[in-house]
Parts: sequence; structure tokens; C-alpha cells
Amino acid sequence: MSSHRRPVLAANWKMNLGPAEAESFLDGFVARYEPRDDRTVILFPSALAVAAVRQAIQPRPDLRLGVQNVSTEQKGAFTGENSAAMAAGAGASFVLVGHSERRHIFGETDVQAAQKCVRVVENGLVPVLCVGETIEQRERGETGEVVLHQLRAGVSMLNHEAIREMIVAYEPVWAIGTGRTATPQDASDVHLVLRAALAGLVGENARGIPLLYGGSVNAKNASSLLAAAEVDGLLVGGASLDPVQWAEICSSSVQRIT
Ligand code: PEP
Repeated sequence: MSSHRRPVLAANWKMNLGPAEAESFLDGFVARYEPRDDRTVILFPSALAVAAVRQAIQPRPDLRLGVQNVSTEQKGAFTGENSAAMAAGAGASFVLVGHSERRHIFGETDVQAAQKCVRVVENGLVPVLCVGETIEQRERGETGEVVLHQLRAGVSMLNHEAIREMIVAYEPVWAIGTGRTATPQDASDVHLVLRAALAGLVGENARGIPLLYGGSVNAKNASSLLAAAEVDGLLVGGASLDPVQWAEICSSSVQRIT
């Protein structure tokens, strides 16, 4: 059984909140969000704010730490990059891989996503593999094909055990940072396709792999998305930058994954 069977609420701060801002965010957030044992909350700060966040959440072991990206390489002359080993040493437990901004702004490929997943797992961390279609692909009816390709490519270098322990996030590109959210039905349609593909890879164990939805989630729509079939959690960008709203999202009613 996966160790991540509980619903997951993950905050992707992107290139926002430096160390001092992260500290003041956490002051506000922890005052509003009590530890709960029926969900996992993960923060993905900028790499430069990881140490400050680690320090600030020390009294709150219920809050988990991740990084937004790692290198495909283990170490060496790669100016500006951070390795998965460094992320582990800095206290991270999770790594976003293949976020649509990495794919579409920085040209990250499926092969690189696969290599990053390997680095992440090799260093004892959990990859959160992001997949999602563009609006053009959706309008051409290619959503299923696109997300399945990204999923299969992303996990292609992992063994079954690693796949069972990972997290997958469905983030339609047209919904990220646009204010245009997928409906709960849109999300569950794609999550069903992803779950079936994971079952094809790891059988019954696919049930324990959290499938997160991301794309313009906010405190108003979080509960209805979390109630959708096969949606096991949320990956939140913009709305996770406000400690009050993020505390509300983290307090949304959730169902245990069965
Ligand atoms: C994200 O960046 O993962 C994301 C879902 O962003 P937003 O919530 O701002 O759409």
C-alpha cells in the first residue's frame, strides 16, 4: 500500500516568496491550520526559501517540504542547477517533475521528466509527475492521448515499486494561472484515464497512487474538486500564496481514498 494514501494538498509557490516572505507566510498559515491526520499538506517553495521553510515548519511535522525542480544530472558543472541529492539534504521529501511551466517555458522534454523521476527516486524522494494538455490539444480531442503519453514517458525509467510510491498531478495547461478551472467532471474524466493506465502498469496498487488536480484551484472551488471521483488532492499555485486562503483550502472537507 502506498504511504501517500491520504488526500494531498500541495502548494506550488513558483518564483514567489523568498526566505523572509516565506517565514511570514508560515506565521500566518500555522496560526490558521491545525495539524490533521486525515490529509497530507506539502509546500513547494523556491529552492532559495527551502531552508527558511524547513526551519519554520520544524514544530509542525505534519507539514511536508518539496522542491519545484531538480537537475537530470547527479552533480558537476551545471551552473544554476540543483541536484536531487541536494534537495534531499536540504530536507525536501517531494519534487515536482514536468510542471507545465517547465515543459512549455523552459522546453523540458518527456525524456528529461523521466530522467528527473529517476534522480528523485534514487535519492529517496517522491516525484510528483505533472501532466496536462494545452487548450489546442483539448479542442482537437487529444487530452487522453497527451496525458497518457506524458505519464507513460515520465515513469518509463522507474520500477513498479517507485511508481507505486509516486504522486501524479493532472494540470490542464489552459487552467494554470488563468482563472479557468476544469469542472469536477473534466478532472475526474482525465483522472479515470490516468488511474486505468497506472493500473495497467502496477495493477491493484494503482489505487494507492494519489492523483492530484491542479489549475486555478481556490478556496471556493476546492471542496467540489476534492469531491470528484478519482481526485485525491490538489496542486495549487496562485491561491497558495495567501496564508488565509491556503489555510481554508487545506481545511476543505476530504474523503479518505479507498
Ligand atoms: C500550478 O502552478 O501548479 C497551478 C496549478 O497554478 P494555479 O493554481 O495558479 O493555476
